[in-house]
Parts: sequence; structure tokens; C-alpha cells
Amino acid sequence: MKIFCVGRNYVEHAKELQNEVPDEPVIFIKPKSALLQPHTPFYYPEFSNELHYEAELVLRVSKNGKYIQDRFASRYYNAISVGIDFTARDVQQELKQKGLPWEKAKAWDNSAVVGTWVDLTPEILRSPINFSLKLNEDTVQKGISADMIFSFDKIVAHISQYFSLNIGDLIFTGTPAGVGECVVGDVLQGYLEDKKMFEVEIK
Ligand code: ZN
Repeated sequence: MKIFCVGRNYVEHAKELQNEVPDEPVIFIKPKSALLQPHTPFYYPEFSNELHYEAELVLRVSKNGKYIQDRFASRYYNAISVGIDFTARDVQQELKQKGLPWEKAKAWDNSAVVGTWVDLTPEILRSPINFSLKLNEDTVQKGISADMIFSFDKIVAHISQYFSLNIGDLIFTGTPAGVGECVVGDVLQGYLEDKKMFEVEIK
């Protein structure tokens, strides 16, 4: 199992980090060990002093594939959730400045949180999907799939030009504006529409 992530998939988020709006999806990967397992505590990473949450819609791959065309891409995923692509922003800034890969900022153990899964039906996919993140009592991020620069299908098709997609792979589809810092003791809750998908406390 592998975890694909899309960077800069919302215009407002690209702007808030002073990044250019990309003309093709920005893709990076987290290993299997990045997935926080159920009933496992989340610990603040010791190598960072600036931990950021990034709430994202997450797709689960349901069919093996390679070189998938846009128009067939929706056959390759069948479940959705909300997750957090935890990012050591200070580490990432340093790596970006040096032009180095992001893994140490993005792909560390337990840096990927995923909530419960909802089966994707054509009905759900027909209208824009809303999601949000609460930090303690405040809603800090609100996203809607219609604001994505690259749609689910475009992302799946694009990834599959480079990597085989396998059943069980996860795809984090990018974060909307509002990313920010969290500290020990904070509680983060992710919502898909009005349904709570996960709750994680920073230990
Ligand atoms: Zn992200």
C-alpha cells in the first residue's frame, strides 16, 4: 500500500504559502508507515517546531491500474474520507529553499491520518463535496471539491501515468486554504459534510 498526495490543488492554499498555481498536479508519496493506525496516539514529531495540519479529502483505490484515461478514472476508487497530511512546515521550508525532496517534512511515521470511509456512489460524486477541520472548538479549514484545480479523475489519471495504482492505495487530494500550526494538547476533528470522520489529539 502506498499513499499519494497532491500538493497545491487549491488556488487559495497555493497563494497562502506563496507557491505558484501548478499546471499539472504536484505529487508526492508517503510510505505505508506514515499511516496512523486506529487507536494509536499521535505524537508531536521531535524534529519539528512548527507542525501544521492540512485537512484533505482522501480517496481509496479499488482497482489496480496503470495509464488510466480521465474518462475511466472514476472506476478506480470507491471510497472517500477526510484526513490530515501532517507537515513539519519548518523542515519543509528548509528543504524547499535548498531544492531538496520533501519526505522528511511530509512522509514521517504517523504523518497521515485518515478517518472512517464512506462508499462513493454516483449520487455523492454528482454534487460538490464539503469537508472541514476543527481545531479545538474553531473551524479552521473549509473545503469543497469543486474548488480543486485538478479533479479526482484528473489526479487518478495523472498519477497512473507514473505509478501503478493498487487496491488499497490512498490518495490525499490536496488541502484548501487555512493550514496552520497545532501544538501538544490540541484536538483536531475532520468532517465530511456534517459527519465527523476522525478526532486526533496531539500528544
Ligand atoms: Zn497536503
